[in-house]
Amino acid sequence: ARPRVVVLGGGAGGATAARYIAKDSDGAIEVVLIEPGKTYYTCFFSNLYLGGFRDFASIAHDYGTLASRYGINVIHDLAVDIDRAARSVTLASGHALGYDRLIVAPGIDFVDGAVPGWDMTAQNRMPHAWKAGSQTQLLKAQIGAMRAGGVFCMVAPPDPFRCPPGPYERVSMVAHVLKESNPTAKILIVDPKENFSKQALFEDGWARHYPGMIQRIGPDFGGANVEVRPDSMEVVIDGMAETVDVCNVIPAQKAGHIAGVAGLADDSGFCPILPGTMQSRFDENVYVLGDATIAGDMPKSAFSANSQAKVAAMQVRAALTGARAFPAKYSNTCWSLIDSGDGVKVGASYQVGEDRIAKVDGFVSQIGEDAALRKATYEESLGWYAGITADIFG
Ligand code: FAD
Repeated sequence: ARPRVVVLGGGAGGATAARYIAKDSDGAIEVVLIEPGKTYYTCFFSNLYLGGFRDFASIAHDYGTLASRYGINVIHDLAVDIDRAARSVTLASGHALGYDRLIVAPGIDFVDGAVPGWDMTAQNRMPHAWKAGSQTQLLKAQIGAMRAGGVFCMVAPPDPFRCPPGPYERVSMVAHVLKESNPTAKILIVDPKENFSKQALFEDGWARHYPGMIQRIGPDFGGANVEVRPDSMEVVIDGMAETVDVCNVIPAQKAGHIAGVAGLADDSGFCPILPGTMQSRFDENVYVLGDATIAGDMPKSAFSANSQAKVAAMQVRAALTGARAFPAKYSNTCWSLIDSGDGVKVGASYQVGEDRIAKVDGFVSQIGEDAALRKATYEESLGWYAGITADIFG
């Protein structure tokens, strides 16, 4: 029988790995992809949907091409247990699937109790919208229904979390909408971090496009001491309660639940990997990808997950078919839109450093760039989105 690779999670990491293994092994490897959702809504560009720059259908993708063109056996189910000694995955339906190699790419889950007063039962009052889909639609509807002069509050997460510039791009997109529809509204960011990604670029952009609208409360002013009361729509910052109109709570994160169940995560909640192969440090037959990993200098992004997936796919083919494997190289770019035509980016390339994935060289947009360059940066991101979603889903 052909060797079998089981991939858990059909997101940026898992679907890319499944596609590359199937595509490059010419049928020599059986690839099974386990993913509960039939439609995958990309978190990437979900902020542009909130800002009115994309429609909802444009961030939706399905698994049809992976099955029909690449012969991947796509099973819409949830993995609930992994027996690593027996090399077997148990699905919620009760079926068990054996594997020769396992790829685990479940994304993130939220740390219980990270924001006192908030849990998943409160997500319809105070959405996270940090997994895209109905949560993103709900948040957009709430922003549209805000009273004139109301307050949009974001409770930002501590490091490490998926998409370091994501909360601040989201604030930019909310401000873009409110500037048009509700110009006296205010945005309050409650942030436990001293600093955040592309901070100078965002703050410069906010001052130029949205003067007086956005206030950020960092840890020095109580940003790390926050509690929410969903029933009364209150946010309590350092003991002071404030009533808000919309509250986007983005809690602290950990590797997707199944990674912990399978004993692949360490005390940090994320999964240690070998930097040259993306193999779990706890099991050479298991590869972990994307947001669930501790990937050294790489941020948690779709670009990173896709880049890591190609390294893992090459290594899995080498292990199972003797195909040639080359030294690992990784790359990432994170684009963010601040206002119409005002795009910025940060990125880097990475290689194996001292037992970790280490940054080799990087680049970041500069304050004061002219409008043509900022527009070109935004347009570059449109090309990236089209390219990466084709690379993930075929
Ligand atoms: P995911 O893409 O989340 O995929 C995980 C999949 O695993 C899910 O489909 C889930 O259903 C499935 N799964 C979970 N548990 C199981 C299980 N037990 N069994 C089977 N399946 C399971 N990145 C960028 O590169 N550029 C951007 O511009 C960008 N913008 C972003 C904006 C926002 C608002 C957010 C929230 C994120 C953004 N990101 C961006 C980050 C990006 O979305 C993630 O880093 C990326 O999706 C990570 O890929 P992944 O494969 O690790 O996880």
